[in-house]
Amino acid sequence: MQPFAEKLNLNGNGLRRRSVDVLQVNLGRYCNLACIHCHVEAGPARTEMMSRNNVDAVLRFLGATNIPTIDITGGAPELHADFDDLVESARRLGRHVMDRCNLTVIFEPGKEYLPEFFRAHQVELVCSLPCYSMENVDKQRGKGTFDGSIRALQLLNEIGYGRPASGLTLNLVYNPVGPHLPPAQEKLEQDYKRVLREQFGIEFNQLFCLTNMPITRYATHLKLRREYDAYMELLESNFNPGTVDQVMCRNLISVGWDGWIYDCDFNQILDLPLANGGGKRLHISSLTLEQILQPAITVGDHCYACTAGAGSSCGGTLV
Ligand code: SF4
Ligand code: SF4
Repeated sequence: MQPFAEKLNLNGNGLRRRSVDVLQVNLGRYCNLACIHCHVEAGPARTEMMSRNNVDAVLRFLGATNIPTIDITGGAPELHADFDDLVESARRLGRHVMDRCNLTVIFEPGKEYLPEFFRAHQVELVCSLPCYSMENVDKQRGKGTFDGSIRALQLLNEIGYGRPASGLTLNLVYNPVGPHLPPAQEKLEQDYKRVLREQFGIEFNQLFCLTNMPITRYATHLKLRREYDAYMELLESNFNPGTVDQVMCRNLISVGWDGWIYDCDFNQILDLPLANGGGKRLHISSLTLEQILQPAITVGDHCYACTAGAGSSCGGTLV
């Protein structure tokens, strides 16, 4: 396999960040689910959570910049004790708030207020639903997850999410169940909309197709099935240079649960930190925008997942 950095052929200049339009904040690894494709290896036994000091540091940094969007992720970020305050504070700063929600979290004890909370704060929801069939969803995310997800989507629709002209955005996320590339996003979105409307009366805004990242839990899953090498070859052989300009690390930074800064969520999990010119790691407690815009983005072979076929990012396909 040709190393990704060579494939980019950047003549030593490295891949550069264009701007920071999104501050992605990982509140921790705790989650009520434990999906096999989960690149952060989240689950009910994980205890790593962002400290209150670091939540405050995130808000200080946000307030000192004009970054328009905060994208909150986890684990299940809504299970963090400071989730509500982070959302409310970011909204007071006038920022757009996105929440990466696994849907079933709203049925966790004490979390039934979440749909109304999301609505009150105009939170954009980005929700995983890897298939419209129960069999595939439960295989990837655990038994009963599909039914819970459908009930959650119906509840969100009832309060306006995903309904035309409501201003309440409900996007869904698809990722392949097997080791292959996602199909064409537009066509799959039409299929999702038709099936979910006909079978469950559900409406949503957009479908984002994501390519599974061959790291951590998903890499282990592939290796156990002897599918890892073939999957990496598939990603490399589908490398699309037209996606490179659009990869999400060019306009996003990621804050880990412990406050360290990364080019993206994947580099965070691989512990490939963002460092200043002197090689010193950057932390949210003392971060400035200038520090982020200087260093080259750290790339590796996992970046083939972002650049294969139509490309992949937190907002779906790239081209
Ligand atoms: S719901 Fe999301 S964060 Fe939780 S285990 Fe599944 S993929 Fe990971
Ligand atoms: S994994 Fe994707 S988003 Fe992260 S550095 Fe590589 S190309 Fe950029």
